Amino acid sequence: MLPFKLVYRDDYYLPIGAHVFPAQKYRMIQRRLLDEHLAEPSDFASPNPASDEDILLVHTPEYVHKLKTGTLSEFEEMQLEVPFSPELVKAFWLSAGGSILASNLALRDGIAVNIGGGFHHAFPDHGEGFCMIHDVAVGIKRLHQEGKLRRAMTVDCDVHDGNGTAAIFPPKSHTGQPLPSAGGVQSNLRPVHAQLRDSSAGDLEVFTISLHQANNYPVYKPPSSIDVNLPDGTDDEQYLGWLEQALSSALRQFEPQLLCYIAGADPYMEDQLGGLALTIGGLKRRDELVLRVARSRNIPVMVTYAGGYAQHVEDTVTIHCNTVVAAKEIFSAG
Ligand SMILES: [Zn+2]
Repeated sequence: MLPFKLVYRDDYYLPIGAHVFPAQKYRMIQRRLLDEHLAEPSDFASPNPASDEDILLVHTPEYVHKLKTGTLSEFEEMQLEVPFSPELVKAFWLSAGGSILASNLALRDGIAVNIGGGFHHAFPDHGEGFCMIHDVAVGIKRLHQEGKLRRAMTVDCDVHDGNGTAAIFPPKSHTGQPLPSAGGVQSNLRPVHAQLRDSSAGDLEVFTISLHQANNYPVYKPPSSIDVNLPDGTDDEQYLGWLEQALSSALRQFEPQLLCYIAGADPYMEDQLGGLALTIGGLKRRDELVLRVARSRNIPVMVTYAGGYAQHVEDTVTIHCNTVVAAKEIFSAG
């Protein structure tokens, strides 16, 4: 038995037909975890869909109304890049419920993995890039509303920039410097002391980190608290170096009560929508690095899966299963 829960339901499947997004990956991951005895049936926790009130903590009433009544404009549906259906709305409400449950379980157990979610391109008033609802933001806001959380950090390792996350949780101020042309950690924050001092009781503070390929979707990348703009072809060693720097810089500035790790599988060298060059082994070391840093500081972690478009879907499944293996290794050790 795992020392933490895997949040999952078969209904995570996204009814989008033949699509570059492998909607069947969630079921394949669960199957693989069970078949390879990496998890037992009792390790899984079944989420309920988020309520409309939960979704409205992040998204505008106008957008939610359009989704519930199937009245997105043609442009809005095109921007979403997945075919709209009422069933799809249900699946996204469920993935948000999964991230709420995973956030709660992370606070209880130290870590929880949502075998889904990570829809980081969803904005308050629209969806894009296969993302309708920002499940991670819904999880954070719900826990904050319940008085369980005041400071959260998002660590987004999907190959694509976390533009929705940055729009929902903009850094308090940013330097407005132009993006470095060939990689680099860009901190968009005021000095440390200003950050730590003005955390007046009650307000939610979210520190956002995004490591992404500079030359990829989205064209406009709103500033995160820390952006790492990686050049094409970044390999394991370079990536891990930047990730370590970003994490240590972030944790010098901010003490989160929950770390939301968006563990995209698409920095993989054989990804169809990514241009980085990480190996499957390098991606596992990435997971280990994030989880080890969090555990060493007693920061609870909730994991979501986000993207993954490997030429062979089995590779995407392996990368996502390895995240559970990494969590097991790091959170089992006394
Ligand atoms: Zn992605």
